[in-house]
Amino acid sequence: MFVVCNKHLEDAIEEFIEVYEQPPDIYELEKTSFTEWTAPAKCHCCDEPPKYLVV
Ligand SMILES: [Zn+2]
Repeated sequence: MFVVCNKHLEDAIEEFIEVYEQPPDIYELEKTSFTEWTAPAKCHCCDEPPKYLVV
């Protein structure tokens, strides 16, 4: 599972497919609420605030 900014969404999808050998589901963090999980403050690949959840 990765959280990524706009710029790194494609990188995260590629990495996900390499690791899990299947395409990920992608959620927009703004439109998704989690009860027992707080989104990390930073993108998986850089210091930008993340926008997408790749799972
Ligand atoms: Zn990023």
